[in-house]
Formats: sequence, structure tokens, C-alpha cells
Amino acid sequence: MTTDKWIYLDNNATTATDPLVFEKMTPYYTELFGNPSSMHAFGNIVDREINTARENTAALLNAGPSQIIFTSGATESIGTVFHALTELYPEKKHIITTAVEHPAVLNTCHYLEKQRGYDITYLSVDKNGQLDPDHLRDAIQTDTLLVSIMWANNETGILFPIEKLAAIAREKGVLFHTDAVQAVGKINIDLSKVPVDYLSLSAHKFHGPKGVGALYIRPDAPFHPLLVGGHQENGRRAGTLNAPGIIGLGEACRLAHIHLKKNTYQKIAGLRDNFEKQLEQKIAHINIHGKNSPRLPTTSNIGFRYIEGESITILLSQNQIAVSTGSACTSETLEPSHVLKEMGVIPEELHGSIRFSFSRQTTARELEKTIEIQTSVIKRLRELSPLKPDNE
Ligand code: PLP
Repeated sequence: MTTDKWIYLDNNATTATDPLVFEKMTPYYTELFGNPSSMHAFGNIVDREINTARENTAALLNAGPSQIIFTSGATESIGTVFHALTELYPEKKHIITTAVEHPAVLNTCHYLEKQRGYDITYLSVDKNGQLDPDHLRDAIQTDTLLVSIMWANNETGILFPIEKLAAIAREKGVLFHTDAVQAVGKINIDLSKVPVDYLSLSAHKFHGPKGVGALYIRPDAPFHPLLVGGHQENGRRAGTLNAPGIIGLGEACRLAHIHLKKNTYQKIAGLRDNFEKQLEQKIAHINIHGKNSPRLPTTSNIGFRYIEGESITILLSQNQIAVSTGSACTSETLEPSHVLKEMGVIPEELHGSIRFSFSRQTTARELEKTIEIQTSVIKRLRELSPLKPDNE
């Protein structure tokens, strides 16, 4: 299948690998295939490039290279943090998270709750998708092991005030992890100002390769490896390094840093705002979720009342437009989004919500075409809908 004509608006699921990233990675699959842990100079060439990748990853977060370990992706980074702390402090049985996390965190918490007897507090959000920092303060107990709160929501793009939340945890002496998968590379992150202890990220969400990520560990934060074996990553993550993937991640970080400095993402926010405005003008009975909250520039989650999101997705897909009804995981189950449910979105809208997610490759022309097709798709589906409003 050719991808030439596709309008790809599902960038929170994954992004296209930047051609410069791909170019940087390729020699490490071919002529420079050495193992970075080898003693010889052939391996050292790769090791040097891994060090550069570590520096570029750290620089994007304004952290130090020794605070970064490479993993197979955010799911592993997140699992590593939960594993480390449950191993180190078995007497602390309380964890705080939010009800709107990605399944990588939520299902880890459900496992600890159901199989291991942990007490989990799931902080709720209001209709704007925001959580009240005082609720975090009130939830912290003497046996709280960890607070894990996402930086940006993968379904709505809503940003949590991580600086404030991490400061509360720090003040109370509790460790803080953030799943920053959707935020990294799209907004400025400065860990010299935000007191998080751990941060998880994944390369493929910002034009890097799939199956590679990183975990930031604050100096002196407690740590225990998930994978043991060899001494790679200073004994913090065993296993031969995925050299091409890590080098690709480093390059993706370097490029993201340049784009953040060039304000590329402000331009995307402009495209997004215009997209939303046009849809609001052309289509009745719609609601932009989280419109009044700080959001990622790249996400627009819109409820189209009285129709099914799956039908919209299929019709858009027939027109070679790729969007999603929620996160990649929830789309598979056809369950309404736990995030929108938590925000109190009404049933008529819950089932007709679509996530459009943009990237630095998205163009104004693509969005114009999407608006045109989306308007006719909604008109057609509303005509068929048994729930259609009287004035349609
Ligand atoms: N956290 C968030 C917010 C995500 O959006 C994702 C991916 O969709 C993950 C975690 C998991 O990342 P990965 O599948 O790359 O491990």
C-alpha cells in the first residue's frame, strides 16, 4: 500500500521517523554493527555515538547524561520505576496516580492493587481534564511509595501542572515519576526547574524509531534494575544495547530541540486552532475536549454528538485520512475512552469523539482537506443517525 496520499493525523499513536533520524541510524545496522560494550576500537566507534545520543537525550530535558538510561520504550521505563520502588520499599503499600493515565501506568497499578495488595489512589479530573494539586497534597500518606502522574494526556493533549505537582511530592518527601511520553519533544521541559525523580519517554512519539525509549533518574533517586545480567548502562539495565535505535532516539532529541527553539510547535498550535475554529463554524453540536486547559499544540480531541466515532474513523480512512477514536489501546476494544468518561463527557458525545493529532510534518493544505471531508462525513452520518437532533 502506498502512503503517498494519506493524510496522517494520528501522531499521538506514532509519528513518521524523520528521514535525518533514519539516515543517522542506518550505518549502525550495516557497516558499523559493532557492540558498543566491546573493548576493541570497532565497538568504541558505536559507543561514542551512544554517548552522543545520551548527551542529546539529556540536553532535551536539561538534565545530565549520567541520569539517562536507554530502554525498549516508555512501557519498560514505567515498569522499571514501579518495579524498582516496590522491590526497595516493600513496607510502603500506597501509590498515587490519576484516573486518566495511559494503560502502561494504569494497568501496572491495577496489577499491584489486585495481585499484590497495594492501595492505589486514582486522582480524578474535572470537566476541563484538570486535577486539583490540593487533592494530591491531601492524598499523600506516611506509607506513600510513589506518585506517578502523566505530563500530557495522550487522548486529549491536556497538560498537567507537573512542576507544581512534583514540588508537592518533594515537599512531602515522596518520590515522583512522570510519564512524559506525549510531552517530550513537543513542549519545553527543563528538569533543572521541575523536581521529578523519574521521567519516561519513547522515541517514536517525536519522529524517532519504535521500540526504544529512555528513563531519566534524578541523581540520588533510589533505583533497582528491572533487567539484570550484563553490566550495560552502569548496571542499571542489562542487555546488549539497541545501538541503531538509541542513536536514532538521540538524533530525534537533537532535532526536536532545534524545532522547539525555532518555535515550530507554535506554528502547529496555530494550525490546530484554525482547524478547530473551522470545524466549529461548519459543524453543529461539537465540543472540543479540554479547550479551556493548557494543551499540547499537537492534539485536538473533538466530540461529534449523535454519531459513532468508529463510523467516522472508517469513513475518514476510506478517504485516506488516519485519525483515532482515542488511544491506540482503547481503540482496539471499542470501549468508550476512560479519559473522556472521567471528564464527565455526556454519552451522546463520548461515542462520537475523535482524536486528531498533528506533527511537524502536518500541513495547512492537509487540514483544509480534512475539514472538507470531515464536514461531509458528519453530515452523512447524522442523516443516518437514529439519535439525530430535531433541527438537523
Ligand atoms: N504513555 C503514554 C502517554 C503513551 O501515549 C504511550 C504510547 O501510546 C505509552 C506510555 C507507551 O509507550 P510505548 O508503547 O512506546 O512503550
